[in-house]
Amino acid sequence: MTGPAFDNSYARLPDGFFARVDPDQAPEPALIKLNTALAEKIGLDADWLSSEEGLAMLSGAAVAEGSEPLAMAYAGHQFGGWSPQLGDGRAHLLGEIVAPDGTRLDIQLKGSGATPFSRNGDGKAALGPVLREYIVSEFMAAVGVPTTRALAAVATGERVQRETGLPGAVLTRIAQSHVRVGTFQYFFAREQTENIQTLADYVIDRHYPAAKEAENPVLAMLEMVTERQAELIAKWMCLGFIHGVMNTDNMQVAGETIDYGPCAFMDSFHPNTVFSSIDRNGRYAWVNQPNIGVWNLSRLAEALLPVLHPDQDTAIKLAEGAVGPFSDKFNTALNNGFAAKLGIPVDPAFMQEMFKLMADQGCDFTLFFTALTRIAKGGPEDAFTALFVDPMEAQLWLGKWRKLHDPVLLPAMEAANPVFIPRNHRVEEAIQSALAGNFTPFQTLVSVVTNPYEPQPDHAEYESAPTPDQIVQQTFCGT
Ligand code: AMP
Ligand code: MG
Ligand code: MG
Repeated sequence: MTGPAFDNSYARLPDGFFARVDPDQAPEPALIKLNTALAEKIGLDADWLSSEEGLAMLSGAAVAEGSEPLAMAYAGHQFGGWSPQLGDGRAHLLGEIVAPDGTRLDIQLKGSGATPFSRNGDGKAALGPVLREYIVSEFMAAVGVPTTRALAAVATGERVQRETGLPGAVLTRIAQSHVRVGTFQYFFAREQTENIQTLADYVIDRHYPAAKEAENPVLAMLEMVTERQAELIAKWMCLGFIHGVMNTDNMQVAGETIDYGPCAFMDSFHPNTVFSSIDRNGRYAWVNQPNIGVWNLSRLAEALLPVLHPDQDTAIKLAEGAVGPFSDKFNTALNNGFAAKLGIPVDPAFMQEMFKLMADQGCDFTLFFTALTRIAKGGPEDAFTALFVDPMEAQLWLGKWRKLHDPVLLPAMEAANPVFIPRNHRVEEAIQSALAGNFTPFQTLVSVVTNPYEPQPDHAEYESAPTPDQIVQQTFCGT
């Protein structure tokens, strides 16, 4: 049994990038779940992780050999408002490992105690948000959406004070890195041009090595970040996913979904759907996510201006040229994504018409596509028709769809339409049961949504839309 072979490149960056700080010791750490499949994939020893020594690392009780815990500095725009200093207020980067495939990965604890960036927060995480992030991020990975991963969830045995006292927990998060748009903004706001350059070089080395070959590597990096974000957000939209807090500190430059707070999947479709209790103006509504994507990328571009070109007018033109293609890239990815979900050739007009129909008819987003996939496989129509307020509308639409559907596209259609998603009411049920001491629904939900395409006759109820009394209207930023 051996612990992780840490090699900590971020800790070798200049002092102003982070604060060195050890995690808090959990009074009574207990493993809730270890992601053994992930451990194996990234070359970590699952036996060591579940040993006493491993648990000590995953709970923050002890600093493992080679680990150099630190809290990263960053800034960010939160709901459009500028915060010059955020930073890891309840997270500790333990260090990095290099996975067998050569990818360098961060191992980070979240909920592991206060840091110099905590401001008024306690640095802790409650059990509910930890389980939510575990469930949703592992589902995202299972359907091929770039995402940070959950390696482990550990109960701390401590109570954290929120509106009520709640059990505390720590999530171990694996990420390609934790550099955010807000990390660049932190140095831009302080006019630390040298640090912007150092961070850009770091990001290029770690995430965009191909940019090194370009005439202007920083520009090439910005173009590539733009492309990854356009594709990422289109993937979210294809799943009915609403991130909920697309603040610039929650947009990771490597292009992984990060920071699962009040995120949620839509049940019945409406483009303006918002779940987050604090998103009162619908800034981060489902349909608005690409607009926010461009806005955030523009903040990144702005922070890169000092290192894009010595002449700032030229730098601005370069920045605009790099972020400008976002819309086209996003639209292409969205059109392709929904064409795959429908099993038809790309047809943006048909897609828009479908959005309107789904909204008018209150169709369940996920069931619409899984029921349609079953029709494409020769199954009956009634499950599909039942999703509509007016079954005649369903028949009319199916007639049009049949003219476009190409059976050759069926495998792609199946791959684009997971049967199981972490529905809000199931996530809520898993959390409430765990709070009452029963982790079985959490374990079951993780197992169901990480095999999202396989029929699971024993868990067919996890496919279903919520009954009216099960509907979750709001999610909370739960810290
Ligand atoms: P988030 O809403 O998770 O993106 O967090 C925004 C900022 O608030 C980050 O700087 C976090 O580190 C900080 N933060 C959130 N929750 C806590 C907490 N319980 N204690 C200290 N800082 C926190
Ligand atoms: Mg955050
Ligand atoms: Mg958060």
